[in-house]
Amino acid sequence: MTSSDYEPGPCGADDSVKSTISKNIGERPASADSMESLEQVAHLIRKCIDCPLSGGRTNAVPGEGNPKAAVMLIGEGPGFQEDRQGRPFVGPAGRFLDELLASIGLSRNDVYITNVVKCRPPDNRDPLPEEVDSCKPYLDTQIDLISPKLIVTLGRHSMSWFFPGYAISKVHGKPRLWNGITMCPMYHPAAALHNPNLRSVIQNDFKELPNILARLEDINDDPEEQTKQLSMF
Ligand code: SF4
Repeated sequence: MTSSDYEPGPCGADDSVKSTISKNIGERPASADSMESLEQVAHLIRKCIDCPLSGGRTNAVPGEGNPKAAVMLIGEGPGFQEDRQGRPFVGPAGRFLDELLASIGLSRNDVYITNVVKCRPPDNRDPLPEEVDSCKPYLDTQIDLISPKLIVTLGRHSMSWFFPGYAISKVHGKPRLWNGITMCPMYHPAAALHNPNLRSVIQNDFKELPNILARLEDINDDPEEQTKQLSMF
């Protein structure tokens, strides 16, 4: 499922949540050349012909946002609007994502948003395993450069990139450690818009993010302690 498929609806902000997150979502330290390096990655992505998806794209979609973001959001792949504009999550699902971010006091400038594959699969089909493999070095590098405190995966394919074999219906909203980074899987905003029940599920999952970040501030880097305190799946 890609980002342009469904229409969004209202999603309100909460002042107490905003206050919590404003204290806990400070920018991560990053090397002085992070932005330049992310730009270099984006440059390589725009020229990339490493898989057949390059042949059908209008624009590659490297990702955008704060190069020192504490929170990184990773979707599955560009949809129609993203391919047209070369930007992630700019269709109806993207507008819903903006509302979800606003509900916890954030904007796109506070986070970094990208996808597992950087070029649109034809007819918004799921990316093939070999396409995901071809694109993997770009996402690996983006994660290394940004070094976020928290990664939020949006959709089943994005979750599977980190944790294959899990059902998103079972683990959405529950954090887990991946290579020392806390990761929280969520439904894709497009799926949530399509299904009114999922809509409230993703809204509630998003509202837990400030609490997860606050707990990350309070606990040390010991993976066992993090797993215990965050009730990881
Ligand atoms: S999807 Fe990734 S690997 Fe394939 S052409 Fe686009 S940037 Fe290259």
